[in-house]
Amino acid sequence: MLSGRDEAKEVRAFGLAGYLRDRYDRLYEERIRELRQVARRHLAFSLVATLGIAVVLLVTLLLVAWLTLRDEVTLSQAGIAVAGVAIVGARLTQAGYSAGALTEAGLYMDDYNAFLDLLPKVAAKRPTAPAPRGFERIAVEGVSFTYPSGGEPALRDVHLEIHRGEVVALVGENGSGKTTLAKLLAGLYTPSGGRISWDGVDISTVDPDDLRRSVAVIFQDFIRYHLPARDNVGLGRPDAAEDLEAIRRAADHAGADRFLSGLPSGYETVLGPQFIGGTDLSVGQWQRVALARALFRDAPFVVLDEPTAALDPRAEHDLFDRIRTLLADRTVLLISHRFSSVRSADRIYVMAEGQIAEAGTHEELMADRGIYTELFTLQAAAYLGNVGRDRPGSAEPFGSARST
Ligand code: ADP
Repeated sequence: MLSGRDEAKEVRAFGLAGYLRDRYDRLYEERIRELRQVARRHLAFSLVATLGIAVVLLVTLLLVAWLTLRDEVTLSQAGIAVAGVAIVGARLTQAGYSAGALTEAGLYMDDYNAFLDLLPKVAAKRPTAPAPRGFERIAVEGVSFTYPSGGEPALRDVHLEIHRGEVVALVGENGSGKTTLAKLLAGLYTPSGGRISWDGVDISTVDPDDLRRSVAVIFQDFIRYHLPARDNVGLGRPDAAEDLEAIRRAADHAGADRFLSGLPSGYETVLGPQFIGGTDLSVGQWQRVALARALFRDAPFVVLDEPTAALDPRAEHDLFDRIRTLLADRTVLLISHRFSSVRSADRIYVMAEGQIAEAGTHEELMADRGIYTELFTLQAAAYLGNVGRDRPGSAEPFGSARST
């Protein structure tokens, strides 16, 4: 944290350097104390071993000297014996060190072997059936999911359906399970209970890699590849990563072409400042690049987890205005906190505490006057309340506020 580039701004802004340094020193002291104990034990062992070897050597040398004095061996034989003893002594010391190193490495060998043993078990369980190439209907039936770290289930008895060509939205408070559900739908996790099917085919029975070929997904915490701009888009479909024209088109659709073309070496510019010639982008620009990557992947099912959180209001508005044209023929699952962006969805699912609490179109949900109405009204009221103070007349009431 003290030396990371990403952390630097907060460390300075909050004045954390001294505090973190103290914590580091304390932890370091604790660690050194433990190490010191181990080192002492090591030292004691090697002292005993070295002394033992020295005694053996001394006795041998004295024996050689005694035999030489009694003329039992010649002087040259004695010389050879002394050289031999010296070599054996050195070898013995080395063998001692090697035995120590081996014992230490042996501690990790168990972990390593246990890890290797897992592979055949995992491979045997992995389904090999080919995945469907597309679908007319995705059905989530009674799905539950608990993270391996335990605790409460993140999803409980979730039912929903998505039809081909639809834009379906998930909304709900933080921690309600939206991202977890998106990961299950993207084939990244397997449900603990219930099933997800594509036209009746349970996706947990097909090859997960094959399934993922038909899914494009961009998460909130998307990856910033410190690679040339073209790769940052092209990695969405590695087999077409050389097709610069298609990369440009995807970037253009995501509103990234203008600034990527303007970089010092255009699409060849390395993104991220870690490397010589690298250029950093703003958070919103990175997000557009991530979006371009999802658009570039020619998959029938697109999962967008908060795709506009860092976009400026105009970019967000443009994107949602065009989402159906951009992703024509594709099916979109959209997670968003911005109610303005979900209101045009074909269906909206409201999640609460790992369950689907409400479902319907914007109009239906507003008529129900439930959680959706409450959250929508809260957000709308907050924006409306600000209209007068911001730029009068220019505000688009629902959802044009900037939030990064
Ligand atoms: P949302 O996207 O609606 O904010 P998430 O799906 O990220 O919610 O989280 C749902 C619940 O699962 C939360 O209680 C969260 O703490 C838990 N959770 C999320 N990711 C993990 C994880 N990797 N390991 C353990 N628990 C997790």
